[in-house]
Amino acid sequence: MDDIDVHDCTRCEELCASRSRIVNGVGATDAELLFVGEAPGAQEDAEGEPFVGRSGDVLTEALRDRGLARRDVRITNCVRCRPPENRDPTVEERENCREYLEGEIDIVDPAVVVTLGKVPSEHLLERSVAVTKEAGTLHDARIAGSTRRLLVCVHPAATLYDPSQRETFDDALDEALALVDDEGSDGQSRLGDF
Ligand code: URA
Repeated sequence: MDDIDVHDCTRCEELCASRSRIVNGVGATDAELLFVGEAPGAQEDAEGEPFVGRSGDVLTEALRDRGLARRDVRITNCVRCRPPENRDPTVEERENCREYLEGEIDIVDPAVVVTLGKVPSEHLLERSVAVTKEAGTLHDARIAGSTRRLLVCVHPAATLYDPSQRETFDDALDEALALVDDEGSDGQSRLGDF
């Protein structure tokens, strides 16, 4: 994959019918932190940008609290088209979109991939994941032929439904930043000042 953005795709009949547009990832193409969510929701579909709805606000503010702007990291999803009625993307839809996600991870080459919730965690680890138990755990994941550091995190939406998840979310985010900070201790960190 040469282009990080997908401009046209007709692999999923149902998603082609339900989307208004393809929602590509945003942020730095050389980011050290790459966040992967599930799929665009209504707001993302309307604006053409991932994580701009209520759960996006949680993520954006949590980044800001840590001195980071959205442009300092990469934010993307397992699938780039909004599923009808905000259902989870099916395994087939995720597989149809895997090439795009893996191509994006390959191009960005982040120090850490942070999976937001069960769907992206299971998709990239290729096993079932109990996110509340595994949040904050670091794994070696084989992605597009490379071994990548993958940190499991709860989905930001979970903190809205269940405020007790907030600490788990914050702790995982702090862990992700600490990992990048360690990598950057030679002065090579590509994160902004924080
Ligand atoms: N918005 C996204 O872009 N992805 C999600 O997983 C949820 C909301």
